[in-house]
Amino acid sequence: MEERWIRCRRCQAMIHHRRFGRALGVCPECGCHHPVTAGQRVEQLLDPGSFRPFETPEVVEDPLGFVDAVPYPERIAAARTATGLHEAAVGGRGTIGGRPVVLVVMDFRFLGGSLGAAVGELVTLAAETAAAERAPLVTVTASGGARMQEGVIALMQMAKTAQAFAGLDAAGVLSVSVIADPTFGGVAASFATLADVILIEPGARLGFAGPRVIQQTIRQELPEGFQTAEFLLEHGMVDAIVPRSGLRATLSSVVSASSGVLLDFEAVAPFIPPSREPWDVVRLARETGRPTTADYAGLILDDFLRLHGDRVFGDSPSIVAGIGRLDGLPLMLIGHQKGHTTRDRTASNFGMPSPEGYRMAARLMRLADKLGLPVLTLVDTPGAYPGLSAEERGQALAIAESQRLMAQLTVPVVTVVTGEGGSGGALALAVANRVLISANAWYSVITPEGCASILWKSAAEAPRAAAALKVEAGELLRLRVVDAVVEEPDGGAHTDPAKAAALLGAAVRAAFAELLPLSGPELVRQRRDRFRRFGVPELTRR
Ligand SMILES: [Zn+2]
Repeated sequence: MEERWIRCRRCQAMIHHRRFGRALGVCPECGCHHPVTAGQRVEQLLDPGSFRPFETPEVVEDPLGFVDAVPYPERIAAARTATGLHEAAVGGRGTIGGRPVVLVVMDFRFLGGSLGAAVGELVTLAAETAAAERAPLVTVTASGGARMQEGVIALMQMAKTAQAFAGLDAAGVLSVSVIADPTFGGVAASFATLADVILIEPGARLGFAGPRVIQQTIRQELPEGFQTAEFLLEHGMVDAIVPRSGLRATLSSVVSASSGVLLDFEAVAPFIPPSREPWDVVRLARETGRPTTADYAGLILDDFLRLHGDRVFGDSPSIVAGIGRLDGLPLMLIGHQKGHTTRDRTASNFGMPSPEGYRMAARLMRLADKLGLPVLTLVDTPGAYPGLSAEERGQALAIAESQRLMAQLTVPVVTVVTGEGGSGGALALAVANRVLISANAWYSVITPEGCASILWKSAAEAPRAAAALKVEAGELLRLRVVDAVVEEPDGGAHTDPAKAAALLGAAVRAAFAELLPLSGPELVRQRRDRFRRFGVPELTRR
């Protein structure tokens, strides 16, 4: 009878097994995510009854004739008896939200979820199947690392699976990794972290070397929460922390991003902004109530999933990015983020990204290019963050590389300058096929204050500088730096954010509808011609 109650390993609460099952193995008292078996995981993630397992791939079972306390084949036999599984992973075809996927899930109970030839072969076959059938690949990992008993043959499974993931990139097929606790060593350092989108369960740990190994080797105290999901998100290694109860829905919306619809074209009447004092425009552009990128994402996109991290060093709260749908068209949204309150504005560093922000944007633009997703960027920054840490990590290089990358994207790119278009920090997200500007936004080589301090020796001359720099929409339209102006509600976007979003949505939709029929090479050529002409007399007149 005692097995009908489960004791939470974190808070010690006693939970009835049926309640525990309904909660998908998550403690209803403290939220601790307990391990689940491969079978339970398949059931939790796929549409009911849709799983069709692969046949067990044939592999060399004991390549080294390994013996420690007992011969390796005996360990395998014992694990099979204990788990009812053939190996440490299960794979097959299935559907999520009605869409076909290929799924591989690992089971930590089977020799610590270790990666040997059998798991490596299964993951590789799954990736090859996904590429051939153009179905997204979903993996769920829980592993201590490569399997020692298979020696260097286990090590080679890392390269084999990495190679298979390169095949998915070449085929333009989406891969999603779900990290369960714990994922370490050879699995963490191969397929688990090579996926396009990395989701992780709350509290799950992921790393190359385990904390005990690190402490024994370098004798250093490790920070609280080291290598946990929360730590990894902050360090830019994972896209999102998703509780188990939300995994199926999140996977469903990610998977749906890989198939889209074409938009019908609905023309938007050209809007010519009235002539105004440039300084008034600058002040309107800085209104704290103006919709932010996160606001626009919520107002014009369906199923927006925010993605995080540059996968190298950090995350940037100054850029909001992710996948969503505009009238059924899946796209990648990337934009500067300011907040409304002092607290939010401080947290987002007033929309001034660090290099990590631009590197995250670049990562997601590459992903959009791979999946054929159009890219929408929203620009609202006084400039990139001018700080010591940003310089140490290559702010100039990050901005330069972003422009070169955007020049090469084979998908339609639309930019809207929604607030402040300050310098290189703005342009880094604005090398687009169509560049629009909100009626009360500004765009220039420097902030009016910066220009005034340098040329007039006084920041108080900013209004004069704003006029001299021709920063407002009407002037930018004449200079052909922008292609169109997006109308705002009377009094400015902050007076009616929902209406502002509807106007912006319609303008963006019309821009994409024009660009979607163009081929990749045509889009690249069109974008290059657009930026090639600036400053050249005969090209500017055309
Ligand atoms: Zn608990």
